[in-house]
Amino acid sequence: MRQKRAKTYKRVMALYVQTFSFRSPFQILVSNDLIMETNRDSDLYKQLGACVQGEVKPMITQCCMEALYKLGKPHQALVDIAKGFERRRCNHREPIEPDQCLIDVVGQTNKHRYIVAAQSSTLRTTLNTIPGLPIIHFNPRGVLVLSPPSQATLKHKVQAEEARRLEGAELLKDVKDGSNVVGSSSSSSALTPVGKPQRSRGVKAPNPLSMRKKKVDKVPSGGEGKKVDGGEGKKVDSEERKKRSRENEDEEGEKDAEGKDKEDSGPVGERKKKKRKRKTKSAVKDAIAELDAEAKEARSTAAAPGELGDGSSDGDGDSD
Ligand SMILES: [Zn+2]
Repeated sequence: MRQKRAKTYKRVMALYVQTFSFRSPFQILVSNDLIMETNRDSDLYKQLGACVQGEVKPMITQCCMEALYKLGKPHQALVDIAKGFERRRCNHREPIEPDQCLIDVVGQTNKHRYIVAAQSSTLRTTLNTIPGLPIIHFNPRGVLVLSPPSQATLKHKVQAEEARRLEGAELLKDVKDGSNVVGSSSSSSALTPVGKPQRSRGVKAPNPLSMRKKKVDKVPSGGEGKKVDGGEGKKVDSEERKKRSRENEDEEGEKDAEGKDKEDSGPVGERKKKKRKRKTKSAVKDAIAELDAEAKEARSTAAAPGELGDGSSDGDGDSD
C-alpha cells in the first residue's frame, strides 16, 4: 500500500511540476486546524515530505498562528510545532478567519505555487476550484494524504497541453515549408515525420529490388538478342569493310584517274586515314557516306567551271 501510494503521489506531483512549474522544496501552507489533528508522536514534517515525495518547506500564516495562540496553554505543543514553520506574512492587520486568510494568500491562480495542508472540508472544496493547487489533509485513519488533482487542475493541464501542441505544430509547419522544398510529400501531421520515412523506405525498398530481378531475368534474353545482333553487326561490319575497301580503291582509282589538284586531295586523304583509324560501326558508315559525298563534290567541282559557262548559256537559253 505504501509503495503504491508513493507512486501515485509521485505521479500527481509530476503533474504539478510539469504543468504548473512546481519546484522542490515545495512550499506548504499548513492551516491551524490541520496542526490540531496532528499526532504528537508522529513527525508532521516527515509526513508532509512523504505526501509530496520531495523536500518540503512548511509555512503558516499570521492569522493561522493567531488562531493557535487563542487555544491557550493546553495546546502549547501545537504552537511549538507551528513555530518551527516559516511565517507567511498575509498583511491582515487584524487577524481574520484562518480559512479566508489562506484563500487570500493563495489567490485565484496560486501564482506562488503553494500546497495547502488543511483539514476544513469547506476550505478544500473552495480551493479545488483553483487550478494547480495541491491539497493535503488527514484522512479518517489519521494518515496524511495528498488529494487527487481537481477537475480545475486537470482541465488546465489539458488546455496547456493543447496549447503546446498547437505551438509545436506551428513550429513544425514552418519547418515543413523548408522540408517540402527538399521533397517531402505530406504536409499534414506534425508528429509522424520520424516514423514516415522508415515506412516509406520499407515500402519503396522491395519495388526497385523486384524490378531489378525482372531486369536480370530479361537480360539473358536481351543478351541473346544482342549476341545475335552483335553477330549480325560483325557480319555487317565485315561486309561494310569489304565494300569500303572496294569503294576506297574505286575512289582512289577515280582520283588517280582524275589526277586533279593533289594538294587539295592530300589533306582530304589524311582526313580519310584519321577516320579509318577510329573504325567504329557508325564511323565506318559515316566515313563511307562522306567519302561518297566528297567524291561527288570533287566530280561536281571538277565539272563546275564548264557547268558555269554551260549554266549561263543554259540560263540564257531558258530566258530566251
Ligand atoms: Zn492572514
